[in-house]
Amino acid sequence: MKGSTPLGPGREFDRIRGVLRGASGAGEGVQVPPGDDATVLDPDLVISTDLAVEGIHFRLDWLDPHEAGARAVGAAVSDLAAMGARLVGVLASVALPEGDLWAPRGAAFMAGIRDRVEALGGQLLGGDLTRSPSHLLVDVVAVGRTGRPLLRSGARPGDELWVTGHLGGAATAVRLWGAGRSVPASLRLRYIRPEPRLAEAIWLVEEAGARAGLDLSDGLAGDASHLAAASGVGVVLEASTLPLEPHPEVTLEEALHGGDDFEILVALPPGAAVDGRAEAFHRRFELPLTRVGVVRKGSGVSLLEPGHHSPVPLTRGGWDHFR
Ligand SMILES: [Mg+2]
Repeated sequence: MKGSTPLGPGREFDRIRGVLRGASGAGEGVQVPPGDDATVLDPDLVISTDLAVEGIHFRLDWLDPHEAGARAVGAAVSDLAAMGARLVGVLASVALPEGDLWAPRGAAFMAGIRDRVEALGGQLLGGDLTRSPSHLLVDVVAVGRTGRPLLRSGARPGDELWVTGHLGGAATAVRLWGAGRSVPASLRLRYIRPEPRLAEAIWLVEEAGARAGLDLSDGLAGDASHLAAASGVGVVLEASTLPLEPHPEVTLEEALHGGDDFEILVALPPGAAVDGRAEAFHRRFELPLTRVGVVRKGSGVSLLEPGHHSPVPLTRGGWDHFR
């Protein structure tokens, strides 16, 4: 397999496109090139990396150091879920300010990393520890296995788009924190404890025939644009169907454009609602599986709003670190 998987629009992704353009993208044993949620190496090894930086990805006035370490692992492992992989373990490179190296804050951050990977059924495989001039950071390399990787490419016109769980909870928590308001426990939990949908994604591949998918880290609209670009199709999202996190503070805007949901978006062959697959998923995982749109010929992401007959193109992307 040559080259890289096309990404959707956005300045952050322009930067990534720039470096991938100069990469060969091919090599012995490389089954899935860069541009997807993870790479797949011969025969079934799935590897992804995810960086969490204090002040950018988390703030220690929002969550404690143990929660911050655990959160970084949950977010990183979500990329394995996005590939339909089982978790083997993680390697974690940590940088701590001098004062934290031997202090409870640094120890709690590292214990959070270890505790979360073990709670998810994996092992801490290795890592590195160094000093940082100011902030805490951790780069988590997640390692998994799958014989049937779920890629961003493969969606076909006529497929239906389905999403696990609820959307917008984490982004709403961030908005409330930013406004100096108190954050309800259910929304705080959605931010501090991302749940990688590992078993759910494997089920969607094996039992529901998922053709393409990814995890929602940047917001449904932006991530759907990556699926559309990788699959060479257009996507129509239906606003009235989006499964908003059940709290009155959560808005459609946050469900569409908020980041950090870490749910899985998949393209399924049509008919999952009528043939009982969606209901079987709900029973198996006690988690909703909701049809949020359709795949059609064309490109990009459009939104069908309630009471309208034709969808409008969504020009805004999801969360973009370069915005
Ligand atoms: Mg991802």
